[in-house]
Amino acid sequence: MNLFRIVILGLLAWFIIRVLRSWSSDAGPRQPRPRNPQQYEMMGRCLGCGVFVPRDTLSDRGRCRSCEKKS
Ligand SMILES: [Zn+2]
Repeated sequence: MNLFRIVILGLLAWFIIRVLRSWSSDAGPRQPRPRNPQQYEMMGRCLGCGVFVPRDTLSDRGRCRSCEKKS
């Protein structure tokens, strides 16, 4: 009967360790998501003021909107 108890205790300990590990992995810091380059907009530098803005907002001359208004 002793062997049976040891087996039960071993299974119990294994189960507890497994549950604790799953908890700790949930509570721990989550790994950052893999970066998707398409998630980010392409940035371009304004030739007028040197500010980086989304490339879509740059004019044909490579200037941001505020620089286009000034000129
Ligand atoms: Zn500008």
